[in-house]
Amino acid sequence: MKVGYCCLYGLANAGKSTLLNAILGLKIEAVSPKAQTTRYNVQGIYTDDEAQIVFIDTPGLHKPHGKLGNILLEDAEDAKDSVDVLLYVVDASNRQIDENVIKKVNAFKGPVVLIYNKIDKVGFEEGQKRLEEYKKRLPQAETVEMSALNKVNVDQMISLIKTHLPEGDLLYPKDQLIDRPTRFVWAEMIREKCMLNLDEELPHAIHVEITHTEYDEKLQKQIIYADIIVEKDSEKAIVIGKQGKKLSLIRKHAEHSISNFMQEKVSLELYVKVVEDWRNDPRKLKEYGYEDK
Ligand code: GDP
Ligand code: MG
Repeated sequence: MKVGYCCLYGLANAGKSTLLNAILGLKIEAVSPKAQTTRYNVQGIYTDDEAQIVFIDTPGLHKPHGKLGNILLEDAEDAKDSVDVLLYVVDASNRQIDENVIKKVNAFKGPVVLIYNKIDKVGFEEGQKRLEEYKKRLPQAETVEMSALNKVNVDQMISLIKTHLPEGDLLYPKDQLIDRPTRFVWAEMIREKCMLNLDEELPHAIHVEITHTEYDEKLQKQIIYADIIVEKDSEKAIVIGKQGKKLSLIRKHAEHSISNFMQEKVSLELYVKVVEDWRNDPRKLKEYGYEDK
C-alpha cells in the first residue's frame, strides 16, 4: 500500500477546495469565489486498492488581515513543510505569476506537482504559453493540466501522486473521507450558505458554532442548533435581513446541503449573535478552534 500526505498549496481562489471536493466526490467544504473561504486545514482522505492519500487543504496565501489572517498564513506554511508531495495549484486564467509563492514552492524539498487548473477558462494557445512560463520557473515540478470544476484529469493526478508515496499501512479506516468531526462540516456548510447569500465584506467576520442537537420525536428528525457569530449589530441586521428573509434563505439552503450530506432530513435552528471584534480576540479565536500559536 502506498500511503502519504499531500498538501494543496496556492493562492486563494486557485481552486484548491474545488479540487479536494472533486477528489472526494463530496462537497464537504466551503467553496466560494471570495478569498479566505477556507479557514481550517481540512484533511480529505482518498483511499483505493493501491493507496491512501491524505490531503491537506490550506487557506489561501493572501495578504493577512488582522490576527486571524496571520494564523491562517502560518497554518499554510506549516502544512506545506510536513507532507510527502506538494501540489501547487494555480489558476491558468490568472495572468499574474506570483514569484513569491514560486520561491516558496521551490524551497520545498520533496516532489512538487504543478496543478495547472481552470484550463476550461482559458484559450489553448494562451494557456500553453503561460504553462511554459510556469515550467521555466519550476524546473523540478511535474505538471497536470486540470479542470477541477469539470473533474478533468483528476485520475491522472492521483496516479502521479501515487508514484511519489512511500509504502506503509493505512493511516485511516478505508471508508473515512474526512478527518474532522461532523459538526465542523455542518458549520462549514452553514458558513458557505451565509457567504453565498451575503454581500462582499461581511462574510469574513462570520463564525458558525454548532451548539447542540436534539432528536424531535414528533417530527422524527434531528434538529441542529447553530449560532452565527458576527462582529457588529449592523452585521447582525444584514444576516437576518428584512423580516428575517435572509436568515430564512440561508437556513433553507444549509438545511438542504446538510440533509444531503447526512442522507436524512434534518432541521436547522439558526441564531445570530454579536461578539465584538472576535477576529482579533485571542481567547475567542482559541474557543472557536482557530489555533493560535
Ligand atoms: P481555493 O481558494 O483555492 O480553495 O478556491 P476554490 O476551490 O474556493 O475555488 C474558487 C473559485 O474558482 C470557485 O468559484 C470555483 O468554482 C472556481 N473554480 C475552481 N476550479 C475551477 C475550474 O477548474 N474551472 C473553472 N472555470 N472554475 C473553477
Ligand atoms: Mg479553499
